[in-house]
Amino acid sequence: MLLYIHVPFCRAKCRYCAFYSRPGCDDAAMGAWARAIDADLRAWGEALRGEAELAPGFLADGTDGTYGRHGVFSSGRGPLRPRVTSVFFGGGTPSLLSPALLGRLLDRASREFTFADGIEISMEANPESMTPEKAAGFRAAGVSRVSLGVQALDDSLLAAVGRVHSRADALRAYEGLRRAGFDSVGLDFIWGLPGESLASWRAQLEEAATLRPDHVSCYGLTLEEGTPLFAERDSLDLPGEDVQAAMYAGCGELLEQHGYRQYEISNYALPGHECRHNLGYWLGEDYLGLGPSAVSSMRGLRWSQPADLAEWLAAPRGQRPGPELCEELSFREQAEELVMLRLRTARGLPLEEYRRFTGRDFAADNAALIAGLCAEGLARMESGPEGPRFALTRPGMLISNAVIEQCFESIPNAPASA
Ligand code: SF4
Repeated sequence: MLLYIHVPFCRAKCRYCAFYSRPGCDDAAMGAWARAIDADLRAWGEALRGEAELAPGFLADGTDGTYGRHGVFSSGRGPLRPRVTSVFFGGGTPSLLSPALLGRLLDRASREFTFADGIEISMEANPESMTPEKAAGFRAAGVSRVSLGVQALDDSLLAAVGRVHSRADALRAYEGLRRAGFDSVGLDFIWGLPGESLASWRAQLEEAATLRPDHVSCYGLTLEEGTPLFAERDSLDLPGEDVQAAMYAGCGELLEQHGYRQYEISNYALPGHECRHNLGYWLGEDYLGLGPSAVSSMRGLRWSQPADLAEWLAAPRGQRPGPELCEELSFREQAEELVMLRLRTARGLPLEEYRRFTGRDFAADNAALIAGLCAEGLARMESGPEGPRFALTRPGMLISNAVIEQCFESIPNAPASA
């Protein structure tokens, strides 16, 4: 199981951001949030050990010491601490927390859940709040992996999207993280910012690659409804479609020349530094999300916490929210998710996994589509130890949503064997 903790605080709101977070650093609100997370960890730990009926109707699905319909172990044979392979502090801005507070929450989590050997403990960080002292403190608290939200190495681009840090802040924070000795340090970028040229993007990436981060994420800017940038969309100086395609393709080529391997649409890593937490999402692992707006998913049941701090604080701890925030995915929705998530990865969709879930032969059901995509260089068939796989190429990844939609058409409404 993966454990995600959402830290809903930011120093200021970036102009493109649609994540739930509150601007401004309010110590009282942060204290209340931390107490509620601590209580959630206790309550979910207890509930998932099968020792209390804190989530009525959820635990009742299990029967005889096996995973129940929703994947929650609910044996009556004594305590079983769900095994956690990854903890991820995301946000918001987790680096606004003090290392001591983050350490206390990690300690609580380790007492409530079984931490797997070699567990990955990640946090997102923003340059303006990651001082060398805090970097050392987070490392000492047990964090192994940090994703630094650089977004751009150009002050005018950063200002255009309302980031509160500068290029110098980003370089200083990176240096502090390196000195602190984390196992993995990643740099996160956004391409296609207002006013950004292809040459500027390439220069920033070149500079990033020479810093030798272990991991690089490069997301294309999306204009999310409700954000200031969305409201100004008609007057923004955004790169055209051709330039954006060149930004995406060039990014992969440049990073590969520097030894990085693309393992997902927007993610690149030096060998052995892939983010195991995010890979877990894409490979369909169960996850428990705590904090306002956090999403959880266990064997076909999906729920999200209220995306409002006050509402989330007022909710009972350690329980799934009501039906308005909880859904049971149909067989077809689960099959679509399997296809969509696997095709995000460079490894692609193992056809045997698809067959086990749906009872169908993906290659036969999509023969014409696959042949067409392969002929256009948008996809490829590969073979690996687990048999054939269908994967998107980099040009295919650029239009992944359209390709994945086409793959959905052959998915049955029920497993073939039903
Ligand atoms: S720092 Fe991150 S979470 Fe906070 S407003 Fe900016 S993009 Fe959103």
